[in-house]
Amino acid sequence: MASRNSSRTQLLVVLLLAAPCVAAQTQEPVDRAMIARITAEANDRSHVGETFNYFVNIIGGRLAGSRAHKASAEYARAKLTEWGLKDSHFEAFPFGRGWELQQFTLEMTGPRYFPITGFPEAWTPSTKGVITAPAIYLGDKSVAEIEAMGEKLKGAIVLAQKPQVAFIRRDRLQPATNVDAVRSGAPPSERSEYTTPLRTMEPILRKYGAAAVLRASQGEHGTFFVQGGSRTTAPDATPSVVVVAEQYNMMVNALLGGLPVQLRLALQVQFSSADTNSYNVIAEIPGSDPVIGKEVVLIGAHLDSWHSATGATDNADAVSAAMESMRILQALHITPRRTIRIAIWSGEEEGLLGSLAYATSHFAGASNKAAFDNLSVYLNDDPGTGPTYGFYMENNEPAKAIFDAWLEPLKSQGTVKNVIGPIPSTDHLSFTRFGLPAFTAIKDYDTYDVREHHTNADFAERVSEAGLRQSAIVMATFAYHAAMRNEKIPRVSLVTATPPR
Ligand SMILES: [Zn+2]
Repeated sequence: MASRNSSRTQLLVVLLLAAPCVAAQTQEPVDRAMIARITAEANDRSHVGETFNYFVNIIGGRLAGSRAHKASAEYARAKLTEWGLKDSHFEAFPFGRGWELQQFTLEMTGPRYFPITGFPEAWTPSTKGVITAPAIYLGDKSVAEIEAMGEKLKGAIVLAQKPQVAFIRRDRLQPATNVDAVRSGAPPSERSEYTTPLRTMEPILRKYGAAAVLRASQGEHGTFFVQGGSRTTAPDATPSVVVVAEQYNMMVNALLGGLPVQLRLALQVQFSSADTNSYNVIAEIPGSDPVIGKEVVLIGAHLDSWHSATGATDNADAVSAAMESMRILQALHITPRRTIRIAIWSGEEEGLLGSLAYATSHFAGASNKAAFDNLSVYLNDDPGTGPTYGFYMENNEPAKAIFDAWLEPLKSQGTVKNVIGPIPSTDHLSFTRFGLPAFTAIKDYDTYDVREHHTNADFAERVSEAGLRQSAIVMATFAYHAAMRNEKIPRVSLVTATPPR
């Protein structure tokens, strides 16, 4: 990695020196007639609601590696073909085992009956049948104290952390209307402390055969955040469940009050190793220019989601809008000078895996030099929901001047501004790490961090069709203009965002 980075740095210095700076000074052309046509197609003949509904209500949650994700990718590939895009195909990348939840119930059976709301972490193993077991509170225990419990842990259901008292109560600020620095996620809130961290506790629980481990999250009012453990979770790992914080706290406080708590847990999952690849979906409108037709304007979004809801805001909305922008351009029979390509990623949630595999195989290394030179820009849509307000410009001032010109005529449709700063933690990082110009859309964060992002509440109700249509109009406008301008998007910034999670 180090040697690649240093050679890449040298290349970027050359690019920096060679980058044309005229774009910032000259008037960037804007095709208002085309924007009007795009807008009319988007509003009069929209397919975006149908696409979105298919992903979230017909398919549902789309954990990478699951049959549901593959089915959603098949649908995307078929739709792009049906709409007339060329070369709609899968590109496989190594992912790991698939995981699907088949059954889950958790109930408090003593000192009184109460059904507990929660969700297993992805890639957690099954319990051995239906377990009825005492709850044991370890949130205040040291490693030595837990070790000393020994056989008492056998078959127990462990409450691993202290009561959850810190909650995510504010969304990140909207960067298009605030001057504060751009943030990637919710404002920090004080984390509930584990006396013994879970990663230290888990091997002890496994050694003594604890039946399951429960913890809370920083969501409240019935919302919880749940993601996944490692895709390589050992078969004998302790099954792990995230529980609504208020109910978790109720059980801990009963135990601390001297009341024994009895739980019944049924957790059945299925691992699949038949196909350990996951799949990006790629399709395009070929460039028509004999000189620059091989250059590529790439747009994209990730279709995979977490599993405790239907991944509506993260990220079926953005995929639906990006696909719709391609449908619009195809329906208008445009003949772009450059190729306009869409990439629908998988494995974003596990570490930008799909986009990184694509960027690495297509743009990294000496053998990909021509393709590296030919990528004009990657435009990504992921964090947040609702309309697109502009783009995070990754400290690329010349590109910002161009994007500002394209954004201006869209202000009557709700765009606000591009911000110069970067955003971490999404798929454009797979391109910026190689020095390619790549930018992510600025969206609404109204309840996104508090209620939607990786939660059990990320359902269709969080998404407005008006926002989907507007997002498609902005993406189609930007992709079209990037494909038609004389020059590629300038490359002037080195890696500016923080590294992938
Ligand atoms: Zn996510």
